[in-house]
Amino acid sequence: FLPPLYIITPTYRRPEQVPELTRLAQTLMHVPNLHWLVIEDAHNQTTQVTELLQRTGIRFEHLIAPMPESYKKKKGSKPRGVSNRNKGLQWLRANATDGVFYFADDDNTYDIALFSEMRFTRKVSMWPVGLCTKFGLSTPVIHNGTFLGFYDGWVAGRKFPVDMAGFAVSVQFLHERPNAIMPYKPGFEEDGFLRSLSPFDPKDIEFKAENCTKILVWHTQTKKNEPAAKVDMAKYNNTNVV
Ligand code: UDP
Ligand code: MN
Repeated sequence: FLPPLYIITPTYRRPEQVPELTRLAQTLMHVPNLHWLVIEDAHNQTTQVTELLQRTGIRFEHLIAPMPESYKKKKGSKPRGVSNRNKGLQWLRANATDGVFYFADDDNTYDIALFSEMRFTRKVSMWPVGLCTKFGLSTPVIHNGTFLGFYDGWVAGRKFPVDMAGFAVSVQFLHERPNAIMPYKPGFEEDGFLRSLSPFDPKDIEFKAENCTKILVWHTQTKKNEPAAKVDMAKYNNTNVV
């Protein structure tokens, strides 16, 4: 018996959206009993995304949750994906009874073995995330089976200095914590959410991926592609078309 995995993916409209979701979809297509919550930071669903989701054969929900205007207008770093993830939590509270959920951004790289690691999470499970912060790695540190603390390039006073891709939570555990929510606080989303799961602290964490010695997910980032309008069409006139 495999408990369901709910994968919460925030996404937003940009030229890289369909390529990112294609890659992620074709990873998730390998994972059994998976329910994909794709949540767009937009006021309406993007047709190309709906069509992509339908083609995968994955059980999915295509939801929308625009970032509130007040945060969108702010200068500096924005709370990216927060409205989307809270929408996902709201959906789980209304529709899910068992299993495990995981926040999977559309641009990361996932080894399919990760989904087996998180599948039987009782409360909260954690593992390393590669290519994360200036240290190139964010991970719980386990020595001789004992949890020593977190290794992360940006601790910033966080109780849980971890990346969004570095943990999964049991649905039942969420149901027992009706006030759990992700804050609109750039840099502190993970810490704020994990703190809001109180009562919960490091002794409750289940460490996966061979006691956090294996990297099964990477915080890859796609470079912004050249906007089409800026492409110098002149250079295309030099090609040898017979
Ligand atoms: N995202 C979003 N709205 C935005 C920017 C990002 O919904 O305005 C989504 C994005 O698709 C991704 C997640 O939020 O799934 C995190 O964003 P991003 O990957 O840009 O953040 P970073 O990798 O820098 O933490
Ligand atoms: Mn990202």
